Amino acid sequence: MNLESLPKFYSPKSPKLNDVSPATGGDALNITDVMAAQGMVQSKAPLGFDLFLAKMGIQPPDAAVNALKKYAMALNNPALKKLSDDSRQEIISCLVQFAFADYSRSAASKVVCVHCSGAGVRRVVQDVIKHPGVKGVAANIKREDVDELCLHCNGKGEVSTACRGCKGKGTVLDEKRTRLHGVPVVKICGRCNGNRYSRVPTTLARAAVNKIVPDLTDYQWYSGYADIINRLVTKCWQEEAFAETQLRNVTR
Ligand SMILES: [Zn+2]
Ligand SMILES: [Zn+2]
Repeated sequence: MNLESLPKFYSPKSPKLNDVSPATGGDALNITDVMAAQGMVQSKAPLGFDLFLAKMGIQPPDAAVNALKKYAMALNNPALKKLSDDSRQEIISCLVQFAFADYSRSAASKVVCVHCSGAGVRRVVQDVIKHPGVKGVAANIKREDVDELCLHCNGKGEVSTACRGCKGKGTVLDEKRTRLHGVPVVKICGRCNGNRYSRVPTTLARAAVNKIVPDLTDYQWYSGYADIINRLVTKCWQEEAFAETQLRNVTR
């Protein structure tokens, strides 16, 4: 049994276990076996298991996020050491949220647009022409808050997590080789590295960090904060893989 087959033991809305047996024929596990296996995995690979359940929307991400915060603190990155305790906590919490969002995108086909927080519109201050002005009467123009269509999601409030390079297929047509051989040749998509989903743009995390550290340099960003995000995302995948191994071992 693998992690991917776990969510079907949960009803979609409530976190309660249901007694529907797995649809796949070869799986001879019953609900009692599955619950016992889960208990084992939870004790042997708590972080990976919490991460996976949170990613699938089966449990809230709090436990996973707290564990990731501890991990980020223990990295002892020099960029974070210089900060006050409050700023450090705030930044770590932001980096962890970002890393978790990036990791959990692999499970979703659509996510809330981060540019407009799902609203589909963005508040901007603009000159609004109240009266265009005619001869003898001055134009009446006021600066007002107006809602502008979010261009990132085109007002939909959500975006597809499928990679834009390969549309979620993971592979693209290798035009050079296709021309050379005269038959379609595919290659791993360079944009997503074959992962099929697009990453959350790190510029958004940088903007958040910049609010707390106004004089942020490129060097500080890449060697400090961006590096922590990368390590956190890698950690998520490693922990999930470890939980997967544990689950396979107990349900073999
Ligand atoms: Zn948007
Ligand atoms: Zn791709």
